[in-house]
Amino acid sequence: MIYFCIMKWSYLLIASFFLGGSFVPAPAKEKITVVIDPGHGGSDPGHLSSDKNHKPEKELNLIIAKKFGTYLQKYLNNVTVIYTRSDDSFPTLDDRVNVANSMGVDYFVSIHCNANERKTVHGTESHIHSMQSKSSVNLAKEFEKEFSTRAGRKSRGVKDSDDRAHSLQVLKYTRMTSVLVECGFLTNEKEAVYLNTDYGQDILASAIFRGFRSHITHEHPGIKFVKPVSSASTFSSSSTTTTAKPTTNSTGKYHIQIMSSKEAIDTQSPEFKKLGLGVTRTKLNTSSTFKYRYTIGPYSNSESAGNDLEKVKKNGFKDAYIINLSE
Ligand SMILES: [Zn+2]
Repeated sequence: MIYFCIMKWSYLLIASFFLGGSFVPAPAKEKITVVIDPGHGGSDPGHLSSDKNHKPEKELNLIIAKKFGTYLQKYLNNVTVIYTRSDDSFPTLDDRVNVANSMGVDYFVSIHCNANERKTVHGTESHIHSMQSKSSVNLAKEFEKEFSTRAGRKSRGVKDSDDRAHSLQVLKYTRMTSVLVECGFLTNEKEAVYLNTDYGQDILASAIFRGFRSHITHEHPGIKFVKPVSSASTFSSSSTTTTAKPTTNSTGKYHIQIMSSKEAIDTQSPEFKKLGLGVTRTKLNTSSTFKYRYTIGPYSNSESAGNDLEKVKKNGFKDAYIINLSE
């Protein structure tokens, strides 16, 4: 029996721009990283349609999120995609924020569907924390524009914490351009049907992709976001060749924590070996009942850690996450 335990890890990395008293500009980026966050999951279904045949919000969020991520990987090079969940697990809001803040991420896009007591209410919304964040405002506007033009939805506009009269944790605490999209209202009969069709999900994901593409090509004029030579090579490179195999003499700070346990588990057990990545067991000096931590790594950059994280999650360790052990 394997026990999983999400452990808190501390906040990471404050980039040091001042070295030896002189200003060192950040190197021009060649790649941008986006965290896609399918809202809810696991025991938290999110909003529900009144039609029992309809999928709960958590499932629709995951479908649209994956379609969006697939568009990014298929049509743009230079974009690394990381999901906060890729299955029916439930990362806490802290986990979602920490994944984004710990990995040098440039964009955070959370995908949700909406609900309202009044069943006539319908349309899309793009939420940001504050109108002060110009990049978030612009990205949110691009999403709403495409929801309206590409998907033919009714755009209800860009909303910040003042409009909502409350903050959203994943927007307030993520330290990058962050937008939460509401793809439509499950409480509106017509929109719930649309959200539950393959067609609707495709068009919504495509609208999010187009809005994102417009925004990043404008924000990063130095990066050529072109279609990869062939989509096949993109998928193989993102899953294998760009992934640095962790070695014991590597000096990176990023690790993938795959699980914790009460009793020591052999790192050569089949569950670990099938990952093919080399698992390290560490005995923790803790009063917690979970005494052992199992990690993969280190990785010197967040992209290779992110690539292996997807692989690890697909291989049964769905609660795995990236940690920074440099502190
Ligand atoms: Zn939601």
